[in-house]
Amino acid sequence: MINKCVCGCVDFIYISTQFNFNLKKCSDCNIIIQDIDENEDIDKFYYEKYHTQSYTHSYELDYSIAEKRLSNYQFILNKLKSPVILDIGSGNSAFVDYLVNNGYEYTFGIEPGLQIKRNNVIRSNLLDYKPINQFDVITIHDVLEHFVDPTENMKKITALTKPNGYFILDFPNFFSNNGMHHWKRIEHIWCFNESQLISFVSSFGYILIKKIYPVDSKITLFFKRTSE
Ligand SMILES: [Zn+2]
Repeated sequence: MINKCVCGCVDFIYISTQFNFNLKKCSDCNIIIQDIDENEDIDKFYYEKYHTQSYTHSYELDYSIAEKRLSNYQFILNKLKSPVILDIGSGNSAFVDYLVNNGYEYTFGIEPGLQIKRNNVIRSNLLDYKPINQFDVITIHDVLEHFVDPTENMKKITALTKPNGYFILDFPNFFSNNGMHHWKRIEHIWCFNESQLISFVSSFGYILIKKIYPVDSKITLFFKRTSE
């Protein structure tokens, strides 16, 4: 299904794995990509099954993770007065709720899954989302690796970020010692390593200002969009 790498290369090397799905590597930039089946209806999977059958975090757990995330993001939010924040792929909306309940009332979310029901989160795919204004800060947790087309989605994220605004990207650390559980059939398609991820996002006009490892199996990258 994916026949072109984000770098433009169309030549792949299939690699053998211990997983129950196939992986291929771009022969130019070496990004590892899941070779997803043409017959998998990915949109249907997310709409109907992802949050009921695959995603197992409880709202309470995600709400406690949101508290840690906000403390990690405070160095950016403290610089801004009443920031308008968009969270992409809000899931059960725990992160959006936590921010709204802790002084960031202009926090909004989008989520394509069925389970959302809270005021500030609307049901939408990123590419279909057409807000009137851009955002001071965009957050995205465990989502970019799911997109079939990360380039189109990054273009959209860029268009939604104010010039000099911030993009906070939380991503699986696939290649860390504790990252094995991130290799998931259908769900995790683009297995960027850290340097591949930084150069991919930077190519849309962002500069990396900080990176942290909130836990060993995750990486959080903080980008600022350069002004135009
Ligand atoms: Zn490539």
